[in-house]
Order: sequence, then structure tokens, then C-alpha cells
Amino acid sequence: MIDGLDTQDVRELKGVGEAMAEKLAKMHLHTVQDLLFHLPIRYQDRTRIVPIGQLGFGDEAVIEGQVISCEVKMGKRRSLLCRLKDHSGSVCLRFFHFSAAQKKQLESGNRVRCFGEIRRGSAGFEMYHPEYKLIEENAAPLESSQLTPIYPLTEGLTQTKIRQLCEQALERLTPYNLQEWLPDELRNQFSLPSLNEAIQFLHHPSRDADLESLKQGHHPAQYRLSFEELMAHQLSLIGKRVKAKQDKSVKVSEAGALSEQLLAQLPFTPTQAQQRVFSEILKDLSTGHPMLRLVQGDVGSGKTLVAALAAAAVVQAGYQVAVMAPTEILAEQHYANFTQWFQPLGLQVAWMTGKLKGKTREQELKLIASGQAQIVVGTHALFQETVEFDRLALAIIDEQHRFGVHQRMALREKGMKQGVQPHQLIMTATPIPRTLAMSAYADLDCSIIDELPPGRTPVNTIVVSDQRRQEVIERVKSACQEGKQAYWVCTLIEESEALQCQAAEDTALLLQEQLFGLRIGLVHGRLKAQEKADIMAQFKAGEIQLLVATTVIEVGVDVPNASLMVIENPERLGLAQLHQLRGRVGRGQAASHCVLLYKAPLGQQGKARLSTMRETSDGFKIAEKDLELRGPGELLGTRQTGLWEFKVADLQRDKALLDDVQRAAGLLHQNFPDHIPPLLSRWLPNHDQYLNV
Ligand code: ADP
Ligand code: MG
Repeated sequence: MIDGLDTQDVRELKGVGEAMAEKLAKMHLHTVQDLLFHLPIRYQDRTRIVPIGQLGFGDEAVIEGQVISCEVKMGKRRSLLCRLKDHSGSVCLRFFHFSAAQKKQLESGNRVRCFGEIRRGSAGFEMYHPEYKLIEENAAPLESSQLTPIYPLTEGLTQTKIRQLCEQALERLTPYNLQEWLPDELRNQFSLPSLNEAIQFLHHPSRDADLESLKQGHHPAQYRLSFEELMAHQLSLIGKRVKAKQDKSVKVSEAGALSEQLLAQLPFTPTQAQQRVFSEILKDLSTGHPMLRLVQGDVGSGKTLVAALAAAAVVQAGYQVAVMAPTEILAEQHYANFTQWFQPLGLQVAWMTGKLKGKTREQELKLIASGQAQIVVGTHALFQETVEFDRLALAIIDEQHRFGVHQRMALREKGMKQGVQPHQLIMTATPIPRTLAMSAYADLDCSIIDELPPGRTPVNTIVVSDQRRQEVIERVKSACQEGKQAYWVCTLIEESEALQCQAAEDTALLLQEQLFGLRIGLVHGRLKAQEKADIMAQFKAGEIQLLVATTVIEVGVDVPNASLMVIENPERLGLAQLHQLRGRVGRGQAASHCVLLYKAPLGQQGKARLSTMRETSDGFKIAEKDLELRGPGELLGTRQTGLWEFKVADLQRDKALLDDVQRAAGLLHQNFPDHIPPLLSRWLPNHDQYLNV
């Protein structure tokens, strides 16, 4: 057995003592293999001499020419300015620090070869402090036939040093000590170079390599490594899913009478999309293994009904259902919906949040534990130790990105304690760009409700500067006088919730002064659950005309008569969040409006973002844009899960690969399962940790 490079400590290399090893460790470079995967961030081309006339701003190049003038200039800073000329043009070398000897070296008439970056200076194109040497008339051509790698560094580490180390690592590299885990047939199918070739190349591209594609990160050698890494991630998620799917769950083999009764009492019929997704769910429920399904549907697409139908089927089969929401307000609303829908059918709906105390809490716990309540609605308090279910068979999690993988797993545990693995239905209104979906949720099956209920008119979005605040207030007034309802959302992004609430309180007071006679309500995170619920109920009943709120109303809140929303400081929010907020209006028949009341002046980027909101109401497009602008962690709120810490891959840059990666992972899983463990330990040395969260 040959020792893999992953078992060779960096200390085995020449020039690495304790101190150096520590520096390397800061960059997670512990083994020789780590060095091989420590790829250059860019390259310099020192292989050819570029005619001076061809240089462009920002170029890094080797040039050669004759000094035609050299003098000390006294500008803002004293500097040595030396003009170099070849057959094609001339350029200035500028030195802010220089010795008398240097000045002498660079005398007119001498020939110089130098390397540096082109900048714009007072003398036109200039190179500041280039590396240079004097040469003879017909000096030997450049020695290097390869591009020069520039590596990421850390304090106390130089390019020269890291190059030497990577050099030594490359010398040790053989196909035996860094094994190829992608079989030939797979590499052929997806046109991937071998691992060793790719690594050799990336540390030392030849002079005619395609620098532009290297720069973009789209070179086949780079793709090869990203491909393997993404595949490893994919495989670990597939593994997780396969494992989860082996568990047993109760079989629910038909929709049953309850769901029909539920539908019969609704004032509308489900959309095609809702029906399709419900049947996908039913299919999962009938297998005897846990369902792990993510339902994505844009705001207002009617996810709650789909959840209720699934719940009906499970209850009909004799089991319990838990419905979880990320906020009290949302949980409250689900509780109202489920009660309204299921109580008339003779079911009992229980309620559980962290704030529920004393006797009522005892009562609800009893309802849940005894199985008297077939449906339980609540917040994450449902995960708590004290909550014992009777026959939990389905957990519905709304807006799951707020919960994260960990809670998802905790919930599964909970069901396991009861001897059955609950089915999981996860619903999100944050459309998840495919790039993310396949990496964050590859352990889930996915359904999309891609249709809105009929009769919705798209929300008309207006971007207005806060200098026109008064007009906006007038507008709210006349809308409310016409019998419409409105939201006024205060979106301070302060760390402190207290400040947010304060801002909302202040705004409510100010608006009350200016909108005398209007019934204004205020809701924020610091109110007691009951107070929040009361206010929401009043708003829903039309008793409150204008609801001033913090972003607590962001998800899920459903009041169809509300047709105007003002969002303050929208420039500080992510697009996905704005989309969520905006989704609170446009739920009824009336034409709806959303006013983005930004704080002037607005930067270029800010303008672009707000106009995205104006131009599209397609949640998927908005999410893509958000991903581009803010990165995946922000979007999913799962930064801590470690899912995004790729060594070489970059989801955004490499998204073109994702389809192939997915297929390749499937093939490997099927035909070469023994290649999987080594791949996982190469790329996800800690993967067991997050498989078992
Ligand atoms: P979301 O997907 O954002 O959670 P909801 O489930 O809150 O959406 O539904 C939004 C509104 O649409 C609710 O008032 C709901 O009663 C209504 N709704 C749901 N399905 C339909 C349908 N098929 N036809 C008409 N209205 C529907
Ligand atoms: Mg919802």
C-alpha cells in the first residue's frame, strides 16, 4: 500500500519547520495533498516579451527596451523616472525609492528587461517599481516556458516560498499517491482531464494556455477539480437521502374522505399545480418509507392548502400531523386556517409555542400526547423535550430556510422516539435557485407549485424617494378611505430587535398624527403572542385599516383585502426578502401596489436592485439575482452549516457544470460505490459530522 499524499505532513518537505507549518496551517494546509489543492489565484505570463506599443492598462508583462532618458522628478513625491523604448513604443518606469547605483544602472543607452504592471501615471503608461535587470544587446531569450502561478498567501509567507513548496509537492505527485476516483468512462463522457493532469497543469500552465479562461475559472483543468468537489458534495447528500429513505414510515395509501370533505367546503378549487403537487406527496406517503419533500411555490401560490390536504390524508389514516412555522404570527395564522378548515370536520387542532405557559400549556401538551389532537400547529417549540406526540406521522415545516438542516434533523429524531419516522413536507416561498437547491437540498425531493390561483393581478411596484414621503402618506389615506387596507413596513436592519420595534412605534405615532381618523395598528416582534394575534385578527377583520409593522410580517401573512404596501428603506433588504414582503399584497381581486420608499440618494447598485423589483415578480428570477448579489449564505440563512465551504468550486461560477455533476454523481453511486468514501474523505473530511446532525 502506497502512502497517499494526504498522509504526508508538510513538515516532510524541505524548508518546512514548525514555524512554517503553523503558517501553512492557518490556510488549512497540513499535508502535501493540501498543497496540491492550493491552487493559484492567477497567473503571470513571463514567458514572452511584449512589444511596448501593445501594452494596455492593467497588463502585467515582460518588456525589453533601451533607456532613452532617466531623471529625478520632484513632483508630489520625488521619484526616478526612466523612459524605456523599443521598436513599437515607449513607457515610463517609476521608482519612488532608488539608490544612486540604480540611477546609474538606468542611464540612457542601457538595455533593460523588466516585469511589472501597467498603470496610468502623469507620464502616461507607467510601471511602478518593476522587477528589472540590465541585459546585453542580443541577450538570451526568456527561460520560462510556463506561466508563473500566484498563490493565495498568509502573513509571513512569500510567493517564492509557497512556489517552492508546491513545486516539491508536485515532484512527489504520482497516480498512485493521489488516486483518480473518477473512472475513465465517466471522464470520457464528461470530457474531464485526469486529476493528475489537471493539478500539474494548474500549478504550471504552459505558455500557450488560454489565460482568459483560466482567469474566468472556466478552464477544463479548473472544471475538473470543481467537478470532483461538487460531485463529492452531491454524493454525500445522496448518501444522506438514501440512508434516510431506508427508514420505515407509516403507509398512507389514499387521499381519503377527509381531504374530499375539506375541498368540498372551500370556496374555490385547487389549481392544477396544487393538485399535481398533492399527488406527488401522496405517492411518497404510500411507499412505507419517509417522504422528504420540498415544496417550492412563490408567495401566494397556495402552499397552505397543499399542506392541509396532505395533513387530511395522514389524519384519515389514523395518525398525527405537526405543522411548524418560523414565527408566531405565521404559526398563529396556520392555526387559524387549520382550525377553520378542520374543526367543522370534527378534528381537534392543538397549539404549541414557547410562550405558552401554565395551565393552557399543560392542556395542549395533554391533547398532543393523548392523540386527542390530530393536528398540532406551532413554532419550533414543537421540537422541545416536553412535547410528546402520540402517533406523529407527518411533519410539515413552513418556510424551512428559517429552520435549517439542524432542526429538520431534530424533528426527525422526535418522530423516531415514537418508533415511526415521520414523513417530512417542507415548504418554502423563497424560490431556491437551482444552483442552491441541488446543493443545499439534494437530500430532498422537490415539487414546484408553478401557478398562481386565478384572478390575481400582479403587484404594481413603484420606487419612490423618501423626499416624497408626504405624497405616499396621502396615497395611503385615500386608499384606506376607499375601504382598502394597507401595510407600512419599517425595515431598520439594526442588530437589535429593540431598535426595530422602536422605529416601528415611532412611525406608527407619526402616521397616526398625520392620518387622523384612520384606524392604525402596530405589530412587531416584542409584543406578546396574544397581542400580536389580536392585532392580526383585527387587521384581517378589517377593523384596522393601516398596519404598521416590522418585517415580522414578512412570511406567510395572508390578508387578501390589503392591497397597498409601503416599505421603508427597501435598499437595505435583500431582494428575496423584499419579494416576500411584497407578496403580502396582491392576494385579492383589487389591483395592488407596493411603494419602495428608499432613502435618497441611492447608489448605482441600489438602483439596479430596486429596479429588479419593479421589473419582475418572478420569485425565481429575483432569487437568482439575490444569489448573485449577496451569496448563498444570506439567501438561505444556513451559513453555519458548512455547506458552502468549497475548496475550489464556486456555485455561481460553476453553475454550468451542475447538471453534469448531478448525472455523474448518480452514475458513480450506481456503478462505482466503492469510489465514494475516498472521494468524500478527500473533499469533505468532516462529512460524517454533518451527516449526523
Ligand atoms: P402561500 O403559498 O404564499 O403560503 P397561501 O397558502 O397563504 O399562499 O394562499 C394564499 C391565498 O390564496 C389564501 O388566501 C388562500 O386561501 C388562497 N388560495 C389558495 N389556493 C387557492 C385556489 N386554488 N384558488 C383560489 N384561492 C386560493
Ligand atoms: Mg404560506
